[in-house]
Amino acid sequence: MTGVDLIIFGASGDLSARKLFPALFQLDRAELLPSDLRITAIARDQVDVDVFLEGLRQRMNGYMGSESPSDAEWQHYSRHFQYVGADFTKGDNYSSIRETLDDSRVSLFYLATPPSIFALICNNLANNNCLTGDCRIVLEKPIGECLASSKEVNETLARYFDEASIYRIDHYLGKETVQNLLALRFANRFINSQWDANCIDHVQITVGEIVGIEGRWSYYDRVGQLRDMVQNHLMQLLCLVAMEPPNSLEADSIRDEKVKIVKALRRVDVDQVAEHVVKGQYSQGWSSGAAVPGYLEEAGCERPDSETETFIAIKAHVDNWRWAGVPFYLRTGKRVPEKLTEIIIQYKDLPHNIFSSGTNIANKLIIRLQPREGIELTMASKRQTLRDKLSLQNHTLDLDFRETTGMSRIPDAYERLFLDAINGDQSLFVGREEIEESWRWCDELIDACNQKNIETKPYHAGSWGPPKAELLIEKDGRSWHV
Ligand code: NDP
Repeated sequence: MTGVDLIIFGASGDLSARKLFPALFQLDRAELLPSDLRITAIARDQVDVDVFLEGLRQRMNGYMGSESPSDAEWQHYSRHFQYVGADFTKGDNYSSIRETLDDSRVSLFYLATPPSIFALICNNLANNNCLTGDCRIVLEKPIGECLASSKEVNETLARYFDEASIYRIDHYLGKETVQNLLALRFANRFINSQWDANCIDHVQITVGEIVGIEGRWSYYDRVGQLRDMVQNHLMQLLCLVAMEPPNSLEADSIRDEKVKIVKALRRVDVDQVAEHVVKGQYSQGWSSGAAVPGYLEEAGCERPDSETETFIAIKAHVDNWRWAGVPFYLRTGKRVPEKLTEIIIQYKDLPHNIFSSGTNIANKLIIRLQPREGIELTMASKRQTLRDKLSLQNHTLDLDFRETTGMSRIPDAYERLFLDAINGDQSLFVGREEIEESWRWCDELIDACNQKNIETKPYHAGSWGPPKAELLIEKDGRSWHV
């Protein structure tokens, strides 16, 4: 099989203009795209390829700023493209898609469309002989909105594609720091040997967003922060922190280890759910210096009594030998003060402290995905002074990827993921079992909250959730890193 055709459904959408086409462009600029790659952009508008590309360039420039393509680079990039105008819901529109396919090449179908039409697109592709060659499919989240609906989507996919041809994206897995987490854990002996309940006190995973629900009220109100962020992104990060060393970097090895962690996550007990879960919803407040409305005053609000959570904090446990007794505190919210994604590994206090400086000398490893991708390790060292005999201070070993690698830019997650999908490498894509087990855990947690009527507490926009979120961790004698 030679050559790859990348067929993007939903080429006029937000994701396409903001992420997908800029990522492909950056790969082309770096000469990493196969020169014979053909990109077929499909959207509803009946226009020719030049008109589509002109509109695309303007939108991309808006997002890429100083990284926008020069004329020569755009010309180079444009040569990959063809365009098809089609309505995906109409079977008779697929003959023009079929005409662009070549069974001697790999067809990589990328569904950047509303998930509600995934199944329809698969059916239409099959009914119109579009799946006759070597085909792969790439999908965006969400894969369902609960265990039952995710199974439905996966069943539909399985009718047409085998698991080795299905690439489910969780773009967090494409981030440089997330891949670096694998390197950090499994390429550094001293870290790996200190990675368990003997040495680690607890783990924190925080994903914060400054923005609110950005015009997606009706979608968001149906799902909330647990389904929108925890089920996928936070769960993936938790798995990579907690999993055992995989046998290799093959997709199946990594997935097998991740699934074991999701299965080992303790089901939240109904009688203890109030101690383990805090839900919040933002009210009016301040964000980046401007007054912003509360969730229930956002444009498009359809349920003024909605209790959908825009913030959630969870105390979770992984019930296995390595992590016995180590809490994993998960926290994610909208309209919090910072756009921040970080994992904190808090090491235990020394078993016996011979120093009396009062400095907290427990090590802390901070794995930062944003804003500044990098890794920090706080370590105690001697204070440089002759006054005290031997007093301590904290030092930070700061591995800022941009500085240490000398790279002028950190590649976007979608660049890695496109390269891997084109090369047929599934290791950074999510397997069916992981997704379904993760939904099972989330469904049970939602169920437990409903049974105990766990209230959604208000918090001011611009704050880190309701005060109870602080209590969740402080009652254990710990505190959030930020
Ligand atoms: P948009 O609504 O902006 O784009 C959807 C695209 O699908 C548009 O190009 C739209 O075309 C097209 N489309 C919808 N119905 C049809 C149809 N019947 N026939 C032809 N084209 C159709 O969505 P996003 O780009 O934001 O999201 C796409 C997917 O990515 C979703 O699954 C979303 O959940 C996921 N996602 C998005 C993220 C983002 O940052 N935007 C982040 C993570 C995931 P038209 O313009 O003609 O309506």
